[in-house]
Amino acid sequence: MHSYRLLYHSLAFVALLLLASVLACTGKGASSKAGGRDVHDAQKGSVSRTVLLLPLGTFSKPDALRLQQRLQAVCGSVRLLPSEPLPRSAWYAPRQRFRADSLIHQMARRARPGEVYIGVTDRDISSTKNGIADWGIMGLGYRPGPACVVSTFRLHNRSRQEEFFKVAIHELGHTVGLPHCPVRTCFMRDAEGRNPTGEEKEFCAGCRSRLIAQGWRL
Ligand SMILES: [Zn+2]
Ligand SMILES: [Zn+2]
Repeated sequence: MHSYRLLYHSLAFVALLLLASVLACTGKGASSKAGGRDVHDAQKGSVSRTVLLLPLGTFSKPDALRLQQRLQAVCGSVRLLPSEPLPRSAWYAPRQRFRADSLIHQMARRARPGEVYIGVTDRDISSTKNGIADWGIMGLGYRPGPACVVSTFRLHNRSRQEEFFKVAIHELGHTVGLPHCPVRTCFMRDAEGRNPTGEEKEFCAGCRSRLIAQGWRL
């Protein structure tokens, strides 16, 4: 069963996103005290966020280095951190996999202003989606917020590197506030339970301009 990266959403985050979008569109970058840390970070990071690439468990070093290079060309400074064990507290024994929401929550707590974590793992990850308590996914990210996670477990082997980059850039797009996009070839499309990365070619014009406004080089 293929499943997919899932947007971490709640009404609170939608409200924060709307606030962030309004502030970004009007060019007022001042952080909102009422907005909490997620909005604060997203706005502070809009010009110079540092991406912290964190390999979780026994993740391939060459894969991590390759992703670092590719992300660096798009998102600016990307620091590769020493790998860390997957936290036992995120383990979901009934399905023998790790809870993605727990992983991003733990990374978000460590993020300082201007930092965004991207955890990478080759183990299966899951979250709650559409009423299904534990649904296997490829990635999960706050929208907006300081953390996301990507798993290579569900990627096709023949195009694994390319798919890995696409899922990573999708989740990082969420962290700067981008929602899912209706354009089928756009990296921000919602996979709706499948793996459509083969159809994804680039960011569409709308998503691209929003990311450029966040300091991305596209
Ligand atoms: Zn998504
Ligand atoms: Zn788009």
